[in-house]
Amino acid sequence: MSGIKPARRWQPAFFPFKRESFGKRLLAKVEICVKGPLFGCRMCGNCLLQETAFICPMECPKGMRNGPCGGITPEKNCYVDSTRKCIWFTIYKKALKTGREETLLEVLPPLDWSKVGTETWGDVVRQVRKIGTGKFIGGIISANKTRKAVVWDSVFKTIRQPEWWSGDSEYHEAPPREPVTELERKFRKGEFVVATEVSPPIGAGTDKLIRDIESVKPFVTAINFTDSSSARPKMSSIACCKVAIDRETEPVFQIAARDSSRTSLQSDIIGANAIGIKNILCISGDNSVIGPSPTSNMNILDIDSVQMLWILRKMRDDGLYLDGRSFKHRPDLFLGAATSPFASDPVLQAIKDQKKVNAGAQFFQTNLVFEPDRLDLWLEQLDKRNILNKVFILIGVAPLKSLKIAQYLHTNVPGVSMPEKIMKRMEKAGESASEEGVQIALEVIDSVKRKQGINGIHIMTLSWESIVQRIVTESGLNIQ
Ligand code: SF4
Repeated sequence: MSGIKPARRWQPAFFPFKRESFGKRLLAKVEICVKGPLFGCRMCGNCLLQETAFICPMECPKGMRNGPCGGITPEKNCYVDSTRKCIWFTIYKKALKTGREETLLEVLPPLDWSKVGTETWGDVVRQVRKIGTGKFIGGIISANKTRKAVVWDSVFKTIRQPEWWSGDSEYHEAPPREPVTELERKFRKGEFVVATEVSPPIGAGTDKLIRDIESVKPFVTAINFTDSSSARPKMSSIACCKVAIDRETEPVFQIAARDSSRTSLQSDIIGANAIGIKNILCISGDNSVIGPSPTSNMNILDIDSVQMLWILRKMRDDGLYLDGRSFKHRPDLFLGAATSPFASDPVLQAIKDQKKVNAGAQFFQTNLVFEPDRLDLWLEQLDKRNILNKVFILIGVAPLKSLKIAQYLHTNVPGVSMPEKIMKRMEKAGESASEEGVQIALEVIDSVKRKQGINGIHIMTLSWESIVQRIVTESGLNIQ
């Protein structure tokens, strides 16, 4: 198959896991010969082309099936393979051009790996027969748009949305209940919230971790523990959360799709909830391409962050595992997601954000913000999509300790591009760079505090936990 496929993703197309019958193999060959050159098909066996502007999303090196990650470069290239455009940016642009952007909101399922590498045309033919070939052809050639859409969906939606997933484009509000965490309670009360993060230790010792937790605890509502940030192994987020709970501090458990499978995600959440962890931040995670050598698998997503939210929301609201098993003790969860307001175009970013809110995100934590005025366009788009009133937003603020850190963030962290004027300020500050970094953070906080739709800040300490007290105090935010 790879010989015929135009290798837009460079790697060969998927192959089935078991030997298929001759008829099916032949059909698969014909399918790849047609869909490969036309749509960049990679034979995932779980076709979504109708919802992705007829461009195969599996060309994304991360295997994202629900929109772009936050790592697009300023040139709109993929950060995993910077030699080409982000395939999701291309899909979004095409959908906008053809007026099909609303189709991008449907929450699409993860792969059913038993189908990977196999043909999908057989499924289409079976579905067409089921509804009646005459009715299908009549509907497709009909001038009546509604009839056409209904007939089309009766075939293709059934295929792309199997019963075990049943994704849609709707907003699913959490059932009415008391807040399950202090973070949620403060948001709902309308307080301007301060959260922060503490870097997990590299070794198994917890002394520094405990010191850092104790030092920021009086000034914040919750502490987020990153999940192997920059794809580098450290103490797990769940273990750090437990250490925080033991010190009566509220944690946010961050889970990166990079290191999760659908099985581990669900088991981890049940376990985490049993030990009192309720704030969950679902992220796709930095790809291992930016991690240490030897490079780990870059083609790793079993589930993306939108799918994580969808799965966790159903566990919480319906008491259901993805495989359909029901359970009695549902986890109490306050679900969050990451967003990158400046990663692509605010119009496109808002579509992805709406999808996350529909899937289950109740709060957003943004990527680092150094130019708060640029947030206005993005907030406007969220408002247009009617989601500003459905999600609480924490703006990511980082006190830069040195010019070197600013340069590192700019070059190595996907989705962060340091504005030139910030670089110049840090450079000019020379030995006082850390003081300049604090002033920049204070200016950002001052600006976002006054913006409609912003509910708080998330101080990304970049291992400078001792600065949290000064930032909170000097920014005039109430001690939490
Ligand atoms: S930037 Fe992200 S979403 Fe876009 S192609 Fe690369 S990995 Fe995929």
